[in-house]
Amino acid sequence: MLRLPRLRYLRPSSAADAAAQTADLGGRAMLVAGGTDLFPKLKRRQFEPDTLVGLGHLAELRGVRGDPTTGVELGALVTLAEAAAHPMLRAAYPGYAEAAGQVSSPPLRNAGTIGGNLCVDTRCNYYDMTYEWRRAIGFCMKKDGDVCLVAPGSPRCWAISSSDTAPMVIALGATVVLAGPEGERELPAAALYRDDGIEYLTKRPWEVVTSLRLPPAGGIRSAYVKLRRRGSIDFPIAGVAAALRMDRGIVAEARIVMSGVGSHPVAASAADAFLVGKRLEPDVVAAVAELAAKPAKPLDNADLNHFWRKRMVRVLVEEALRQAAVRTPD
Ligand SMILES: Cc1cc2nc3c(=O)[nH]c(=O)nc-3n(C[C@H](O)[C@H](O)[C@H](O)COP(=O)(O)OP(=O)(O)OC[C@H]3O[C@@H](n4cnc5c(N)ncnc54)[C@H](O)[C@@H]3O)c2cc1C
Ligand code: SF4
Repeated sequence: MLRLPRLRYLRPSSAADAAAQTADLGGRAMLVAGGTDLFPKLKRRQFEPDTLVGLGHLAELRGVRGDPTTGVELGALVTLAEAAAHPMLRAAYPGYAEAAGQVSSPPLRNAGTIGGNLCVDTRCNYYDMTYEWRRAIGFCMKKDGDVCLVAPGSPRCWAISSSDTAPMVIALGATVVLAGPEGERELPAAALYRDDGIEYLTKRPWEVVTSLRLPPAGGIRSAYVKLRRRGSIDFPIAGVAAALRMDRGIVAEARIVMSGVGSHPVAASAADAFLVGKRLEPDVVAAVAELAAKPAKPLDNADLNHFWRKRMVRVLVEEALRQAAVRTPD
């Protein structure tokens, strides 16, 4: 049985205090919310901090505030189960509620938080393994080694961004609020991510995501479609988030963002631009799916064949557009 290492647990008095304590300890401390991703990784020695800085008791990080006409703010500790079941989110931001509701399995959605989901580690078949497995095959550059086992000639890590909610919040144009020792800052959710399997977040390691701000929902139709081997638990091997604004049947604004196809949530900007001014006729949808799939680069480091996954991106894009288009905007 895999066991957690011995760890010190700190219970900060606020998000700012959590950031200060984490910063003070440098690389020795990590933040923890629900622990659904972090604890298995500690057991597999993918992370080796000696201290965890707990967020789970901080009331300031809880709750859903505001309304869809002016924008909605979700505390980082809102659980995925709460987000998925929230009536206002389901009505006004259905794609977001769907993405949260498709993460993992019910027990993990009860514990896992929306903040943790935005910060969740990138994944790779050669990395998400026990310490002994990784040692036997030779460590890779994401932890303890210096080569990439997927692309041995590559100077970088290609681990995959696999958050279900990250592409959806980017498609919706959301922002995140971060607390650091010197105060708060707000940035577009898209700016939280970097195309690198190791340094996949742009935020400083000690900064705490305190909330997610969804913009006014007026007229936005959204949907999230996910591909995975087992619908009951698996991470996405491809996921597509779509947000559309329509004007009398014509697309006025479109954002398609994909998960599981790169080291960051991948925006299909060319497809978005192509869609504007058009009706969602079958030939348009097929052309958009083709354009959207271009920047998707699945590698051979996740479940199922990567050529097939690339082909499936087109199918998922078509399905996400089909579902978003028939949603009645709030
Ligand atoms: C079997 C299994 C299946 C899973 N399937 C999926 C899936 O299908 N889709 C998916 O997206 N995820 C999946 N996950 C990953 C995980 O359960 C979710 O991403 C969850 O939302 C993580 O939230 P958490 O609160 O548990 O994060 P934690 O495990 O507590 O933390 C995850 C990371 O985020 C950081 N962090 C957490 N909260 C904050 C914060 N507020 N501010 C700054 N940093 C923070 C932590 O330091 C850590 O690096 C799966 C995990 C398991 C074990
Ligand atoms: S992509 Fe390469 S470096 Fe990154 S985790 Fe996988 S094997 Fe390791």
